[in-house]
Amino acid sequence: MKLQFWGVRGYVPTPGAAYLGYGGNTCCVVIYGAHDELLVLDSGTGFCRFGDELMQREFGEGRGELTLLISHTYWDHLLGLPFPGLVHTPGNKLKIYGPDSTRGSLRMVYDGILSPVYSPVYGLAHMAATHSFEPISTHPLQVGGLKVRAMPLSQHKHSPIWAYRIEEHGRTVVYMTDVRYSDAQIWRKAVHFAEGATVLIHSAPYTRAEEVEDYGHSRVEDAIEVAQEAHVEQLLLYHHAPTRTDAQLDALVAHYRAELVAMGSLLRLEAAREGPIIEV
Ligand SMILES: [Zn+2]
Repeated sequence: MKLQFWGVRGYVPTPGAAYLGYGGNTCCVVIYGAHDELLVLDSGTGFCRFGDELMQREFGEGRGELTLLISHTYWDHLLGLPFPGLVHTPGNKLKIYGPDSTRGSLRMVYDGILSPVYSPVYGLAHMAATHSFEPISTHPLQVGGLKVRAMPLSQHKHSPIWAYRIEEHGRTVVYMTDVRYSDAQIWRKAVHFAEGATVLIHSAPYTRAEEVEDYGHSRVEDAIEVAQEAHVEQLLLYHHAPTRTDAQLDALVAHYRAELVAMGSLLRLEAAREGPIIEV
């Protein structure tokens, strides 16, 4: 299994020379299975560029299939879906899993951002690719050789958040974003779900010292503690704050790596970066 980040920012896209190293698109991660399975986690603006790349493959001829797993319905996790040519090419197939909001189903939310008020697509009905919205549950699902488990993790007021665990040949990627550890039960669920993962992708836009409140987010220290308690091999910090420059991310990783070394931890720590393909 391989993974590749196409969007690593939270909240809003972050263009600018100071952000080019890690990238400025919002949340989108791609998992490549050993038998060419294609699994996409969240359709933030990173999905636009990934979609363009897919058009050079079978998707350009309307023969592509992918599975999209959505963590929750905030814009930074959805907004890239309507733009790439692959969703407007008849014959391509998208299977979309994700939680409903308290104000309407995931299908309704996507339909809303494609409405004439926001976009010239005029709703999902005008998206030419075949697409289906599948019910999400804690029952495992199989995407080719990839085994996927999903779990409700915590809740923004109107947008429940789900985490995903993808396994192949004994290697595991866990995707956990936008979680706030507001009580011990959520913490225990997260640690249990991430147990023994090869790679944990975890949102960490701020540090505890920054004392940013009310965004509903975990901090860098939370991500590290979950990873350690769950015996994770590698932690990839994700959903970077839009204000965090490349130099600041480099410094942040160096600081926490030094802390891990000082405490004798074997956890490998990186900040997620758009582009490189990571062998899991
Ligand atoms: Zn987010």
